[in-house]
Amino acid sequence: MSEIPYKIYLTENELPTHWHNIRAVMPEQPDPMLHPGTMKPCVKEDLLPLFCEGVVEQEMNSTDEFIEIPREIRDFYKMYRPSPLVRAYCLEKELGTPAKLYYKFEGNNTSGSHKLNSAAAQTYYAKKQGVTHLTTETGAGQWGTALAMSCVFFGVDLTVYMVKISSEQKPYRKICMETYGAKVVPSPSDTTDSGRKILAENPGTGGSLGCAISEAIETAVKTPNCRYVLGSVLNHVLLHQSVIGQETKAACDMYGIAPDVIIGCAGGGSNLGGLISPFMADKLRGKNNIEFIAVEPASCPSLTRGRYAYDFGDTARTTPLMRMYTMGSGFIPSPNHAGGLRYHGMSPILSKLYHDGHIKAKSYVQSEVFEEAVRFARAEGTLPAPESAHAIKAAVDEALRCKETGEARTILFGLSGTGYFDLAAYDSFNRKTMTDHVPTDAELEKGFETLVKV
Ligand SMILES: *Cc1c(COP(=O)(O)O)cnc(C)c1O
Repeated sequence: MSEIPYKIYLTENELPTHWHNIRAVMPEQPDPMLHPGTMKPCVKEDLLPLFCEGVVEQEMNSTDEFIEIPREIRDFYKMYRPSPLVRAYCLEKELGTPAKLYYKFEGNNTSGSHKLNSAAAQTYYAKKQGVTHLTTETGAGQWGTALAMSCVFFGVDLTVYMVKISSEQKPYRKICMETYGAKVVPSPSDTTDSGRKILAENPGTGGSLGCAISEAIETAVKTPNCRYVLGSVLNHVLLHQSVIGQETKAACDMYGIAPDVIIGCAGGGSNLGGLISPFMADKLRGKNNIEFIAVEPASCPSLTRGRYAYDFGDTARTTPLMRMYTMGSGFIPSPNHAGGLRYHGMSPILSKLYHDGHIKAKSYVQSEVFEEAVRFARAEGTLPAPESAHAIKAAVDEALRCKETGEARTILFGLSGTGYFDLAAYDSFNRKTMTDHVPTDAELEKGFETLVKV
């Protein structure tokens, strides 16, 4: 075997033709989504008023292991995929570890993260169905930007409800979305009943993701030919993100790379779920013994300290109920947390795999995460997203452990995005004004009290 290059790029022709659906391989299925009114398992018809038909079918599909990626989506992917699998030679040297480090980098597109993989797919299915308008919410802005890019490409109108405080703190994100033709509405706004209600109760509020979701859902339901789209957590989003894992697996197979550990950051679970999908299938079939690690912030620790329970996907308590690891939909993460991954719940697929012992989880406070983000940027040249830096931190810890024991393990991690849009957080780290918050058990208890009794 020749030496592994710094960057392994598949060619355009080697781009995966199929997404990988891990549910078809899981020995036990995640518990079904429940209708919040009837508390009965959701059927397709429950979801169709809100979501596009193509993705509802995928959401419900637990039998087909491979689902063909339509040609139009593959053509869109060709604008920025395949993404590189990078051998972190420079970081290995910096750490002095015998371990081999690899990362799959999803930040090489203007939206700056893996979210474009699902945005493209969801927009394509909207267009195919004759939907003319999509709505969504965005906090930090990565998802809104990705969707703006895919909507203008496929010719679908887009309204993004952006948490007001974020739209003020991140004006460049807003400008970026507008440049791609999206309408960006700071939320809460006076354009919806739910927005007006929140404004009447809290005139000065900076908004929240929960509030932006309510506005996006209300507009989707009230506007003809309009649907709502979500950028993480749901089964179909993990399916679309499996393009990351499919490419990674192909690159590994091509060069005889056999990971011992695969690590990813987990907010709602989509980049990690997508990265591990085909590797997990092999593990469940007894073909490998890879250790899978989900990494989350200590300030929002759904896997490591949450409950495995039925909960709403949003703070406004309007979505179907999902059984997942959750802090409770009423949990409000500490505002000092800059490092992303602030979602209260976790993908039901990853939750089930974790519950059944197929995945491990770790958490770190943000200052230790940023320390590794800076070391990584200086060694490897790439400025990581704060979310992705959680995975870097866990990978470095493992590499340093290998240094102690002399093990030459192969560690692969997902670098889900670029840090260009998070310079304010880097600034706060550099100026040593960044603080850490780990919620107390009593604070967590308050979140758990908002769980529904099923
Ligand atoms: C949104 C985002 C995440 C978290 O979402 P997942 O669904 O857990 O992948 C992680 N990294 C980046 C760069 C993101 O934009």
